[in-house]
Amino acid sequence: MPAAHPLVIVGASYAGVQLAASARELGFEERILIVGDEVHAPYQRPPLSKGLLTGKTTLDQLPLRGPDFFEQNRIELLLGRRAEALDAGARSVTLDDGAVLDYGWLALATGARCRPFTLPGSNLDGVLDLRTLDDALRVAQAAERTQRACVIGGGFIGLEVASALRARGVAVTVIEAQPHLLARAFPPAMSAFVENVHRRRGVELLTGRGVRALHGDQGRVAAVELDDGRRIDCDLVVLGIGVLPNAELAQQAGLAVDNGIVVDMLGRTSAPRVLAAGDVANMALPPAPGAPARVRLESIQAANDGARALASLIVGHERPCTAVPWFWSDQFDLKFQMTGLPAQGDEVVLRGDMASDRFSVFYLRGGTLVAAHSVNRPAEHMLSRKLIGARARFTAGQLADESFDLKSAPTTALEAATS
Ligand code: FAD
Ligand code: NAP
Repeated sequence: MPAAHPLVIVGASYAGVQLAASARELGFEERILIVGDEVHAPYQRPPLSKGLLTGKTTLDQLPLRGPDFFEQNRIELLLGRRAEALDAGARSVTLDDGAVLDYGWLALATGARCRPFTLPGSNLDGVLDLRTLDDALRVAQAAERTQRACVIGGGFIGLEVASALRARGVAVTVIEAQPHLLARAFPPAMSAFVENVHRRRGVELLTGRGVRALHGDQGRVAAVELDDGRRIDCDLVVLGIGVLPNAELAQQAGLAVDNGIVVDMLGRTSAPRVLAAGDVANMALPPAPGAPARVRLESIQAANDGARALASLIVGHERPCTAVPWFWSDQFDLKFQMTGLPAQGDEVVLRGDMASDRFSVFYLRGGTLVAAHSVNRPAEHMLSRKLIGARARFTAGQLADESFDLKSAPTTALEAATS
């Protein structure tokens, strides 16, 4: 056991910081170093596509932890430094300035980056990605001047940005390649609801449409050309076309990589003493008949809960990650709250009236609740998380009946889940 060797964490964001915090909470006494290639102290990403663009969130509200947190917990932050190479045999990581860090445990919390957009015109001024604080500051600055924006990609980034820009009075067109918005996350009925929400609030939506090129005027974007030749004039293009896991460090070191770094439920990679969590990790799921064996979740909850599992392993009190996934999205006056894994469902049930903008969509697998999407029903979302964890069983009729008390459903472990 290389007791004198530190825990080295690559990636100074949700997963990395949570791992360091949890390791200390659980009594890990060795050195902890976090290497992060962004220059900013760890910060929150959700406001980057929401409050920072509408002006509701200010920069001083972004830090992930208080000013004294890292010093008090003896967590060393090496910011603006990039890990370039991993030697899993020698248990060392080499940074971009040539420094070599030996580790007792290494955690890869390198997250994800924007999928590259390589069509003609993608280098024009006013064509902006949105992943980091620096990206968001560029979008926020552009949002102050723009009259007409195009958003390419109708996923969460695209729709949150569209909603924030509309709130500023900007004319917005969203172009989505899939036939429906949020096609990866939502079934068609939910997508149709979201489409209606955006159209009613003045967003032009073009689904099932490709982009052929971007055109400029004196170096600045002036129009988006669609696959049918139609041109949409705009002075700002925001890209929300998905992300790629930052798995190269692991791949080059020979670790198993398949849509992210392959890990078990404790975050162990295929190399000894090398762990991974967060957007970069493709994590094993508890076995369930007919359900997927693993998933790479792109959410804060998954990063935090994955990191907690890593910390438990490091201190020798192993607690595999079995947490029920959840995340949220704010668009206009609507709060979307999602929990569970809809892909595991074989039956979809609506509870409430979509026209009222307050409802939930539930997903059952063989009568067991596996996921729920709630709109403006926070209490139902919180209850759903518990019921999914407790493997509550329902008939479709019970879920659809608003007078049926969801708490009365038979479960396998309700007491444990709600206590
Ligand atoms: P990341 O946050 O991606 O951080 C990884 C860090 O590692 C980055 O700073 C990266 O630069 C750094 N890094 C990578 N490689 C190296 C290297 N070799 N050396 C050093 N450093 C490296 N999720 C929600 O649940 N709810 C939301 O409302 C929500 N809103 C979002 C809004 C926006 C605009 C964005 C971009 C994301 C949003 N997400 C949201 C997703 C959420 O932010 C991610 O799931 C989360 O950030 C993942 O955390 P992570 O620590 O795994 O990785
Ligand atoms: P996303 O959810 O993967 O959505 C991207 C969408 O853009 C997909 O539907 C994609 O279709 C489409 N697309 C790809 N290329 C396109 C093109 N050339 N033209 C038109 N459409 C195109 O990713 P995202 O919205 O960019 O978000 C990035 C990351 O941030 C994700 O991890 C997301 O979870 C996270 N995020 C989360 C929140 C939240 O939780 N509230 C908010 C913002 C961001 P294909 O699937 O066919 O490629």
